[in-house]
Amino acid sequence: MPSLATLPNDLAKFARYHLVRRAETYPAREDDLGIVPLPFDLDRYVERIRAFDGPRFEVATRATVTYRDREHPVLSVRSRGEADKTLLVLSGVHGNEHAGLLAVPPILEAWSFDRVRLVVVTPVNPVGAAELSRFNAEGYDINRDFVRFGTPEARVVRDVFDAERPDFVISLHEGPQDATFIFTNRHVETKLAHALCDALATGGTVLAEKDYFGLRLTPPGLSASSPGARLVTKLWALTLGMKATIAYSEDQGIPEIVLESSWRMRDEAARVRPHVDLVSAVAERLT
Ligand SMILES: [Zn+2]
Repeated sequence: MPSLATLPNDLAKFARYHLVRRAETYPAREDDLGIVPLPFDLDRYVERIRAFDGPRFEVATRATVTYRDREHPVLSVRSRGEADKTLLVLSGVHGNEHAGLLAVPPILEAWSFDRVRLVVVTPVNPVGAAELSRFNAEGYDINRDFVRFGTPEARVVRDVFDAERPDFVISLHEGPQDATFIFTNRHVETKLAHALCDALATGGTVLAEKDYFGLRLTPPGLSASSPGARLVTKLWALTLGMKATIAYSEDQGIPEIVLESSWRMRDEAARVRPHVDLVSAVAERLT
């Protein structure tokens, strides 16, 4: 891994976010990380998600978070009926990664897997989603808070894990790399990870040759768990008290995939597509 000093400026700034739980004191925007904003309006989005409440899905408010006297809900959407397996999708843990939010309506529209219960939490970070920020109202990175659970948003996710006991977790993210890739924890079988990359490519997604630190991905699109990465994750939790959802899942024996589309892409459909395709591809293989 290159040292922070050799990374281009914007990537060095991005890397800094891996070292602190609280990078800011408010939901700060990053204007220099090359994020291409997608058309997203939180109120309209919430209304659109609530409209799925009906015979197929049950929509509930898991929590409300307040910022500047405005209350924003964290919603959960659950498919109705009996199912053998539960697939949990976390959408919008980082509020400025809008593709993973905009993917939820098409994910719900396309959902046709009777034997899998779908549970979506969205937006995990509504204040960040409204403010185009990675962080929550207090400037915390929720995806570093799965040791201490100091943020209400991380506590909501923990409660959903406890209540739903998911068999598989997908967390929808974006990053500064040029194309799409997935992180997998140690419980995701290699064969499955390869098949999912193939499914994304078949759907028209361009898979990244390198991750956002410039590390080569083999095969393209896959950053699999390794003993070295697991050691870093363990030290990260022990020394800095930080843990991401993918490691929290790993500790509980649950396979998790983090999808990272490229926030540099201007093509909204191409950014949203891998999120929709990955959820279907996993659900197909969970039955
Ligand atoms: Zn993210």
